[in-house]
Amino acid sequence: MKILVAVKRVVDYNVKVRVKSDHSGVDIANVKMSMNPFDEIAIEEAVRLKEAGIASEIVVVSAGPTQCQETLRTALAIGADKAVLVETDIELQPLAVAKILKALCEKEQVQIILLGKQAIDDDSNQTGQMLASLMDIPQGTFASKVVLADGKVSVTREVDGGLETVQLSLPAVITTDLRLNEPRYVTLPNIMKAKKKPLDIIKPEDLSVDITPRLKTIKVEEPLKRSAGIMVADVAALVDKLKNEAKVI
Ligand code: AMP
Repeated sequence: MKILVAVKRVVDYNVKVRVKSDHSGVDIANVKMSMNPFDEIAIEEAVRLKEAGIASEIVVVSAGPTQCQETLRTALAIGADKAVLVETDIELQPLAVAKILKALCEKEQVQIILLGKQAIDDDSNQTGQMLASLMDIPQGTFASKVVLADGKVSVTREVDGGLETVQLSLPAVITTDLRLNEPRYVTLPNIMKAKKKPLDIIKPEDLSVDITPRLKTIKVEEPLKRSAGIMVADVAALVDKLKNEAKVI
């Protein structure tokens, strides 16, 4: 069984992002970039399925600029078998990524497609859902447990009221939630081995997909600064301030 995992290169989660002075976006010049954390979980899950003898091959895909090769090499070091970079400098929106992934899934004939539930830069939480819809196949989103048996996959999902388990026929799209697993550390020998694994570079045109952006960013702004808190003398003073100053009660 072949698995495809989509990995996005994003601003590292430890970086405090700054908005560009012209408000056109976030400044990513000289900023540390890493694999989207939910995608690390997706790779880890694919590798565990391979180690359990359920998956035979893991193909990892990233779409974006040439630097995404670093992200793909990390995925190869975690345990993916081969990588594909769909190289473009055009800003990719979820629909464009979903179209790219659809073309590759059909080409590679994969049974399971693993994505992160969301990318921590745009927080869209759309790509997996759009991909399942474009391919007209089942989806199990926000997965906290994945079990494969009898040609079907059971996905336990983290929903508002608790956990929901759905059973999907294959091929299927699964998006990972935080508690699915704890990704392993990448070891030096595996980083060395990853350098020899295949990494193909193609262009969106090779897949005949239209990646033209459909949404226009009007303005990006920093969140308002929180003003400092104050201590109040007693409950009566608190109620008074909530009523007369904050006007929330
Ligand atoms: P989003 O819908 O943008 O929140 O992203 C959800 C998931 O889609 C990510 O966690 C990735 O698995 C995948 N994804 C989004 N953008 C890309 C990209 N440019 N390249 C590869 N995978 C992507």
